[in-house]
Amino acid sequence: MSERYEVVVAGAGMVGLSVAALLAAGPAAKRLQVSVVDAGARPAYSASGDVGLRVSAISLGSVSGLQKLGVWDAIRGVRACSYERMHVWDARCAVDGPEALRFEAAEFALPELGYIVENGLIQQALLSKLVDLGVDVRFDTPIATLETLPRGSGCRLGYGDGTTSKVDLLVGADGAGSTVRRAAGIPVKAWRYPQSALVTHLRPEFDHAHTAWQRFLVDGPLALLPLADGRVSVVWSTTPDLAKEALAVSDEELGRWLTDASDRVLGKLTVDGPRGAFPLKAQHAVRYAQPGVVLVGDAAHSVHPLAGQGVNLGIADAEELARTVADALAGGEHPGDLPTLRRYERGRKGANQTMLYFTDMLNRLFLSDSRAVAGLRTGGMRIFNRIAPLRRRAVQVALGIPL
Ligand SMILES: Cc1cc2nc3c(=O)[nH]c(=O)nc-3n(C[C@H](O)[C@H](O)[C@H](O)COP(=O)(O)OP(=O)(O)OC[C@H]3O[C@@H](n4cnc5c(N)ncnc54)[C@H](O)[C@@H]3O)c2cc1C
Repeated sequence: MSERYEVVVAGAGMVGLSVAALLAAGPAAKRLQVSVVDAGARPAYSASGDVGLRVSAISLGSVSGLQKLGVWDAIRGVRACSYERMHVWDARCAVDGPEALRFEAAEFALPELGYIVENGLIQQALLSKLVDLGVDVRFDTPIATLETLPRGSGCRLGYGDGTTSKVDLLVGADGAGSTVRRAAGIPVKAWRYPQSALVTHLRPEFDHAHTAWQRFLVDGPLALLPLADGRVSVVWSTTPDLAKEALAVSDEELGRWLTDASDRVLGKLTVDGPRGAFPLKAQHAVRYAQPGVVLVGDAAHSVHPLAGQGVNLGIADAEELARTVADALAGGEHPGDLPTLRRYERGRKGANQTMLYFTDMLNRLFLSDSRAVAGLRTGGMRIFNRIAPLRRRAVQVALGIPL
């Protein structure tokens, strides 16, 4: 069986679903038949179940994108925890020393700096939106082959179940190990970090005070992110060996490790949730487009999670791509034309590259034991604290909104 679509999105992660919803709800909707396929099983989300293991810091820029799609109120109504403060410090300095970086929403006349939300909840809200928009979403349907058709007439896709489709534009939103990227022959620049991120939920002794805490330890940063039920989600970037050990030790032992590693900033931490560990790497596709194929989200770029920016960059990609495709159609162009897709690439690649190198530089800066680098680090943090325009600019980039 072979079907015909204008756009197929490969990957029903948060980014792929955002692209599909923005295209299907946007000004070009009537001229685009959009479909989403995912290799995995349909995700199950239950608002009455426990908070999922994977949560993300969602910037105000992404909140505004989700608001435009009409899904933010539903997400917020279930459980999203605002954070109003960020507190970042080096383990080699005091938590309240002059080098500690503190950001308050009130300093920027904002009610909050962002939200901590379950990835599964965002997916669930976007999937419901796609049902309302009549978009066909298929799970257990991996893209297996990709054939680019001659004279810019799109591509032919082969699925794991043997079916095929002909499409004008294939959007590769299939994550860091993207099959679409590989099948399209798009190379990546990639490097592994000597770190894995250990993730679990903790019950803190003290109130989390709607604050996102981050302590830079010698092996990597430890982040404590507030959850709506009073717990915190920990993302502990550490050596792969220690992360592996942390998966195996008892709750009591891990609680002791994390209480020490956090400098008891929230008192005693008690493990209260499942655990997972994720190897960390940075990666950037050399190009985002070729005729009939375009990459978004982690398929195009993976960044270190220390700044909580991966999915926010991906949602910004989705918005840029939907805008570019709608403009192209309004101007009589084809959505899969290379000049159209290059416009999208030009709109996003610089911002993604900047965040990739910024997070990489920050990670290396804090991993270094050199005295010279330590001096640079503490001196830099003190200066940063004193220069208001620099603080404002950094917060503006992290929040994804003009201030
Ligand atoms: C520990 C950790 C903490 C993080 N914290 C944050 C944070 O606080 N804030 C933030 O912004 N980001 C954070 N990130 C990054 C964020 O999780 C990712 O950037 C984001 O999930 C990428 O979304 P995506 O939709 O591009 O890709 P994915 O979520 O990887 O989704 C890809 C989808 O494609 C599907 N797929 C794969 N192969 C195929 C195929 N052949 N055919 C069809 N479908 C396929 C998969 O099944 C999957 O559903 C964190 C990452 C880690 C590891």
